[in-house]
Amino acid sequence: MENGTKEGDDMQVSKRIENLPPYLFVGISKKIEEMKAVGKDVISFGIGDPDTPTPDHIIECLCQASRDPTNHRYPESIGLPELREAIAERYEKRFGLTFDPGEEVLPLIGAKEGIAHIALCFIDPGDIALIPDPGYPVYAIGTMFAGGESYYLPLTEENEFLPDMDKIPRQVAEKAKVLWMNYPHNPTSAVADIGFFERVVAFAKKYDIAVLHDGPYADIYYDDYRPVSFMEAPGARDVGIEFNSLSKSYNMTGWRIGMAVGNAKIINALMRVKSNLDSGIPQAIQYAAIEALRGPQDCISKHNAVYQKRRDKVVDILNSIGLEAKLPRASLYVWAKVPPGYNSTDFVSKLIEETSVVVTPGIGYGKYGEGYIRVSLTTQDEQLDKGLNRLRDWYDSHNQNWNNS
Ligand SMILES: *Cc1c(COP(=O)(O)O)cnc(C)c1O
Repeated sequence: MENGTKEGDDMQVSKRIENLPPYLFVGISKKIEEMKAVGKDVISFGIGDPDTPTPDHIIECLCQASRDPTNHRYPESIGLPELREAIAERYEKRFGLTFDPGEEVLPLIGAKEGIAHIALCFIDPGDIALIPDPGYPVYAIGTMFAGGESYYLPLTEENEFLPDMDKIPRQVAEKAKVLWMNYPHNPTSAVADIGFFERVVAFAKKYDIAVLHDGPYADIYYDDYRPVSFMEAPGARDVGIEFNSLSKSYNMTGWRIGMAVGNAKIINALMRVKSNLDSGIPQAIQYAAIEALRGPQDCISKHNAVYQKRRDKVVDILNSIGLEAKLPRASLYVWAKVPPGYNSTDFVSKLIEETSVVVTPGIGYGKYGEGYIRVSLTTQDEQLDKGLNRLRDWYDSHNQNWNNS
């Protein structure tokens, strides 16, 4: 080390840490800090984190459970039997699917935890994971941590942001261990139907690939659209599991609780990894989750009505200022095109500098996210209106022509 004098400066972190891609938001976060430091009123459409609190009845249950000393001790890493039953019941009510709570259900410390750890169940060094691009970054990071390689499946607008499985070379498919899917999709908000999932099941059976479907937006939907579960596809249980979460459905991102359901062999493998790494979900939080899953569900439609109003406003304004966007049928995001002549990072930087409004550049979700921005609908109404007005004024100040800039 050039300027190191202290002992220990020569210590080497692992390749898996060195190989981590630079965190996209470091640059943006730095910029936001600078803007705030000089007194700018920064409005963020950046993160997908529900802005309203966890519903009262869930918090009430959490408070009570936290006072019970039996919940102060190590939980079982497989989760309370009652929680596994409550998860199975919810899947039955929501999708008409039955799961064996003992074998086909596993609570997680948030879906992200399971998504990252499941790579250890399937990926040996050199193995391939098929991963959507753009997509949630954890699928590829988990793969890399396990020593595997990501083969990216481009999601393009022409193909409605669904992967074209026919384009996967046979040698790649034969080497692949897992196929990641995520519908409703973050960041594009695309949705998939049963017909698509059936094709996924057929592909997985042909090449003996495990399908890992990530579905935390199944409860965030608009108009009369209702997302389906991957597990509804005939044969899905033979090849795959679905990750889900209480984070988005019940505004519980801060409590860290999610689940996986599906193929018993995959669930068991994930359970074995987890039981060697973590000691379960704090039990009071498990009781809160049971209350969320079994209690009144009206919070879901209430929250969706709020997001839907925001969605309509955001899509309307974006289209009126030449940032082409479609109405999402589900999820918390609007996926919009940047004007010709910009890449997503340049556009986002300029937007932040000139308006103090923050959105996420599409490139942060992969190469095929380039040319887009993601606008989250989890910004409080007043801030949202203010942010959208700023966007419109900004466009006007460019004489309603992005090429002039
Ligand atoms: C939010 C999100 C998750 C993480 O959910 P947690 O249960 O909070 O860990 C997983 N996948 C996608 C695509 C997400 O957007």
